Amino acid sequence: MNNTISQKHAVWQLIKPFWVSEEKWRAWAMLIAIVALSLGLVYISVLINQWNQVFYDALQNKNYPVFKEQLWRFTYLALSFIVLAVYKVYLTQGLQMRWRRWMTEKFMGKWLAHRAYYHTEQQQIIDNPDQRISDDLNVLTQYTLSLSLGLLSSLVTLASFVSILWHISGPMTFAIAQHSFTLPGYMVWFALLYAALGSLVIWWVGKPLVMLGFNQERYEANFRFGLIRIRENNDAIALYHGEPREKQQLSNSFEAIRSNWWSIMRITRRLNIASNFYGQFAIIFPLLVAAPRYFSGAIQMGGLMQIASAFGQVQGALSWFIDAFTNLASWKACVNRLAGFNAAIDEVHNQTRGIQPQPESAQPLVLKNLSMTLPDGQPLLSAATIGLKRGERVLIVGPSGCGKSTLLRAIAGIWPYGSGEIGLDQKLSPLFLPQRSYIPIGTLREALSYPHPDKDYSDEQLLKVLENCRLKHLQSRLDTSANWSHRLSPGEQQRLAFARAILIRPDILFLDEATSALDDETEQLMYCLLVDELPDVTLVSVAHRNSVAKYHQTCWRLSRDEKGLAHMALSPLPIPS
Ligand code: ADP
Ligand code: MG
Repeated sequence: MNNTISQKHAVWQLIKPFWVSEEKWRAWAMLIAIVALSLGLVYISVLINQWNQVFYDALQNKNYPVFKEQLWRFTYLALSFIVLAVYKVYLTQGLQMRWRRWMTEKFMGKWLAHRAYYHTEQQQIIDNPDQRISDDLNVLTQYTLSLSLGLLSSLVTLASFVSILWHISGPMTFAIAQHSFTLPGYMVWFALLYAALGSLVIWWVGKPLVMLGFNQERYEANFRFGLIRIRENNDAIALYHGEPREKQQLSNSFEAIRSNWWSIMRITRRLNIASNFYGQFAIIFPLLVAAPRYFSGAIQMGGLMQIASAFGQVQGALSWFIDAFTNLASWKACVNRLAGFNAAIDEVHNQTRGIQPQPESAQPLVLKNLSMTLPDGQPLLSAATIGLKRGERVLIVGPSGCGKSTLLRAIAGIWPYGSGEIGLDQKLSPLFLPQRSYIPIGTLREALSYPHPDKDYSDEQLLKVLENCRLKHLQSRLDTSANWSHRLSPGEQQRLAFARAILIRPDILFLDEATSALDDETEQLMYCLLVDELPDVTLVSVAHRNSVAKYHQTCWRLSRDEKGLAHMALSPLPIPS
């Protein structure tokens, strides 16, 4: 019970916001127009149905003037039908895109806000957020509109044509064991029975398609992701000669697509047999049922055709309900995934932070009783209470995997797992250069300016910093667009990161093994450059090589105890070897 309430709540939470948002007036106006067009379409169908009677009667009576007049009538009825039908679809598509755009903005905003994208990945709480934002929002908006508008049209069509059918079909009298029964509006019952039986069979035959279609999409996505991985890692795969393995893996992924497709084909064949029988027989069935009254003279040719057309409308409207079940299943799956996405993001946003950031701090950086854990609570590092003076340059050393990068994440405020306090003076602007730098796809100018807009820096500034960072050979390619993270060597990428630091001129700079791919000489040069260009910077660098020790005044050393937990303590600077 509670569950259904919360499910309804989740659906409502997804649907409602757009319709009460700043765009609501336009959205409601479009929706009302679409509803009016739908009702107009049903009305024209009713008129066409009545036209059937007059037209076929005229044919039967060989009444040429009426025949001609009715041809004109049909022409303008059909023309108005076409115009309404075209604009109904056009407006619906427009409304759907407005809604989708609005929802996508909201979801992207939520995902990027408070680094939810980072925490959900670290904690692995939702799969494929990309699919949810790109596909599921599309399906949600599309199906919500088509299902609700379809429901409206079908109900109105059903009501109109059931009453028409009731009036024109007349009663049927039949006898069972000396008693005679009269069934009023008997065609209505036949139509209901025919549509209900036929649609149920079709639904039952086609039911497995929902699951199969769902899987097909997943397999397609996996295959595409496999191909993208090869593109992303082309260099490494080529060096390892990993092609046979990759080929094998891709073939396996494709095999899943292929075998699922065969299941889809088999079910579709069965479904087509059933639906073609149903569709073809629906043409003749009402005529069969109404024939006795025609031959007895109770109705004329026009009445017969009108019955057949009304029967078709009733049966079409009923079939809609059965078809809608399938779409409703996909719609429901979508709603669940989006509700799950919302819940995961809210959970991340509301998570209590173990490590407390302290914005007010007298020193540039202070760690108080800090201890850090992994997301699952496993202890990782316990750091002493330790601080940094303004302009001080500290070197962090310690064995690989003991938590140096994680410590920098905690200082940056993106690693909340643990306890204690971290004070980072908010008046200072910090910059973190991660171990693996990130280079956006675009021009070299954009890559250099990241995360700031490229117009923040002049050409002279960019050219100079490239020269200083030994990237003179790239000076002519400032405006070349490329996937620079594939083209530049790791060492060049690290020099690019230094160039960024010099452009941004932070007050406090964190370098995480930022020179690991450089030769000794270039490494020295980069540190010299940093000290020259940013003489007042407070520097925290993580490095493995002792040769850079001389650019620092302090050393924080991490060492592991027998339980694997790392401790951090002040220690003398390592002696350059
Ligand atoms: P390093 O000192 O070499 O920079 P890191 O800080 O990158 O080490 O990692 C410290 C430890 O934490 C490693 O054992 C790593 O496997 C683990 N770790 C890092 N991030 C996560 C995560 N999101 N989930 C689980 N374990 C993690
Ligand atoms: Mg590291």
